[in-house]
Amino acid sequence: MIAFQLTEDQKMLQELAHEFSANEIVPVAAQYDRENAFAWPVFKKAQEVGLINLNIPEAYGGPGLSTLDEGIVNEELAWGCSGIATALGVNALASWPIILGGSEEQKREWLGRLIDGQFASYCVTEPAAGSDVVHIRTQARKVGDHYVLNGSKTFISNATVANFFVVFAKTDPDAGHRGMSAFIVERTQPGVSTSSHFDKLGQRASDTAEVFFEDVELLPSRRLGRDGDGFGIAMGVFDRSRPTVAISAVGVARRALELALQYSKERETFGHPILSYQAIGHMLANAAMDIHAGRLLAWHAAWLVDNGMRNTSEAAYAKAFAADMCMRVTTDAVQVFGGYGYMKEYPVEKLMRDAKVFQIYEGTSQIQRNIIVRELARH
Ligand SMILES: Cc1cc2nc3c(=O)[nH]c(=O)nc-3n(C[C@H](O)[C@H](O)[C@H](O)COP(=O)(O)OP(=O)(O)OC[C@H]3O[C@@H](n4cnc5c(N)ncnc54)[C@H](O)[C@@H]3O)c2cc1C
Repeated sequence: MIAFQLTEDQKMLQELAHEFSANEIVPVAAQYDRENAFAWPVFKKAQEVGLINLNIPEAYGGPGLSTLDEGIVNEELAWGCSGIATALGVNALASWPIILGGSEEQKREWLGRLIDGQFASYCVTEPAAGSDVVHIRTQARKVGDHYVLNGSKTFISNATVANFFVVFAKTDPDAGHRGMSAFIVERTQPGVSTSSHFDKLGQRASDTAEVFFEDVELLPSRRLGRDGDGFGIAMGVFDRSRPTVAISAVGVARRALELALQYSKERETFGHPILSYQAIGHMLANAAMDIHAGRLLAWHAAWLVDNGMRNTSEAAYAKAFAADMCMRVTTDAVQVFGGYGYMKEYPVEKLMRDAKVFQIYEGTSQIQRNIIVRELARH
């Protein structure tokens, strides 16, 4: 059966997230963007309302929402500010490896900590390996009954505020993707440090920094799954994170369209509102079509994984399409605003800056196309 209607619960969730975004995020978004600062008060309120840790199962104290439900929330939060929305979503990203690969004991301990208010980061990317995940160099060497972790990670979201890190490292450097494992590392452990957060083009309210590990001792109880399970865990996370990132891009594009439409009704040139000109109207029509298509792709990719089906291609379609679409739509919104669009007093230049990273993080738009063609070639 195909159904395009949200359930009553999903509509309520959407409304809750939209109200929160309109009342708590929109009024402060420009300030946090300007100050390149972490929106602590928004975070605290989101915790109170229950808009973070959405994917944590009920058995471990979370609401246990589906990926589709999480996407519905993300669209509304990113509509308000995708920088703040990214920061709010990092716990979900970091908790997936624990949900997918953790033991019962690990789930109780670490998911419980997130529910109790702690933060975690997801650490794959390194200075010399982003797209090329298999070639990460961070190493967890077995010494006696424990591991010793050495290496560094970069561009890690929420790194400066995280209480613990989910870290992907090589346990067998010669075994390719089979030599990668995932570990939980606490910020307070000797040998763990972070840089200050980066000064970014967009999504400036999300904290992004480096994480360093120098001779960090880890007991086997900190390993998720078995030695060598890390790559499979990371790929399982992508199947769930890419649809929710795609839907965040939809939220940003939707905001850009709303603002551009409003402005095009008010702004007059040559004695007429600019909306009356076909060149402007068609830009808005293209945006409306693309946003709708992006949302459907993201919902479908989420629905597949929620129903236990393989979604590798569909998650890549959604991520690449929505990211590229968001860049196009936000750039067109600046065009609709003309010179004012280029000015920081108007909201659309921020949307265009924020949009760019959707084409980069969680796998670039080029990597998504590589995945799609690889999947096509399999058949
Ligand atoms: C704001 C922000 C937040 C982030 N948060 C996190 C996080 O929380 N955790 C984490 O682990 N990572 C995070 N990342 C890292 C992000 O996932 C990587 O930046 C991304 O995967 C790209 O890797 P790279 O930067 O090393 O680029 P590279 O892999 O060096 O790519 C450079 C360019 O080459 C292209 N390219 C590379 N290989 C190929 C190929 N085979 N075919 C075609 N084109 C190719 C890419 O598409 C890109 O255009 C974040 C990044 C940013 C900017």
